[in-house]
Amino acid sequence: MSKEIIRKSMVMKGLVGVAKSVSENDLAIINSMTRREFKSEELYVFPVVCCDSRLDRDQDRFTKDALEHMATLAKGVTGIFDHSWSALGQTARTYKAEVRVSQDDGEYELLAWAYMPVNEKTQPIIDAIDAGILKEVSVGFAYDGLQCSVCKQSYFGSDCMHIRGREYEGQKCFTWITGVKEWYEWSFVAVPAQPRAGVEKSFRDKKEDEKLKSLEGGNEVEKLFKYLKSLGLEVKDDDHALSIVKGWKEQADGAEKAAGDLETTKTALTDTENKLRTAEEALKAAPDSAMAAAGQKFFDDTRNEIVRLGGLLGESAKSLEIVMKSVKDIDTLLEVKKDYEQRVDEKFPLTPQTKGAPGEDKDTAADVDLKSYSV
Ligand SMILES: [Zn+2]
Repeated sequence: MSKEIIRKSMVMKGLVGVAKSVSENDLAIINSMTRREFKSEELYVFPVVCCDSRLDRDQDRFTKDALEHMATLAKGVTGIFDHSWSALGQTARTYKAEVRVSQDDGEYELLAWAYMPVNEKTQPIIDAIDAGILKEVSVGFAYDGLQCSVCKQSYFGSDCMHIRGREYEGQKCFTWITGVKEWYEWSFVAVPAQPRAGVEKSFRDKKEDEKLKSLEGGNEVEKLFKYLKSLGLEVKDDDHALSIVKGWKEQADGAEKAAGDLETTKTALTDTENKLRTAEEALKAAPDSAMAAAGQKFFDDTRNEIVRLGGLLGESAKSLEIVMKSVKDIDTLLEVKKDYEQRVDEKFPLTPQTKGAPGEDKDTAADVDLKSYSV
């Protein structure tokens, strides 16, 4: 991350004119930092609120962790006085700092304490601080973490698609300063609510412009605008242009899906038609095949009967079967069968031809007069 100086300024409230006498502890700390030993009456100490966790006008907020880390960097940080005050060539130095919770809104504030030697040159500055004239502090530091409030990714990293100050689903994007790498100095700003210093402005704007360009394609967006307008569409802003294109994409996707569905339906329909045709053909062929089966059965039955009759006449069943199999015409087969039936009838007449002939057994079944029997 950047090593460029970020400047943050804020107005101190309720701290002016509360400079206190130097405690024993504080004197010891200060004397550990000075070239010579100071007595408490030679020193002027005062509190400075440097940063806090409130959303500032750049859409940044310090996390509590970042403020606490900054407090550890506070000792020895120089405080300077710009404009007319700087002509006096005097500076203050921070000797301790702490993170406190504001009684007003529960936000965290970094409260640093600074000292100045009391002498003729510093007296006008001390008077100005006591009078509350010097009350806006600007802090110069380098951060080492900047997190998007919407996606929690690194704001200048490639994954974050958000722009500070813009709203995303009702949530306004800002950035968390999650870490402070170096704390360079702090200064009193003569004119309250002065916009941020030039160095920060150019740095921020440059980074922000780069991000905007990468997210929105710079000229590409302009080209899109021109194209949409050439189609006679009213385009209000970037988001509107994107929503138009998004709408087109959805329509195209929908049409593609519908075409796919249609293709599937057509295939299914063709498949069903083919099955129906096959079923119809099978149905048409069914009587023919039934007839054929019945015909074959009649043919076989007739042939078997001839073979049986032949057997009764003492012929070889095997030979007869082979011969009959060569007959493919049902009329011929029926004629042969008729012939066999006649021959069997002749050989085995129902009424005996030799009835009453001598030497014949009268008690054969054929001789029994059925009418003489009764039950
Ligand atoms: Zn983001």
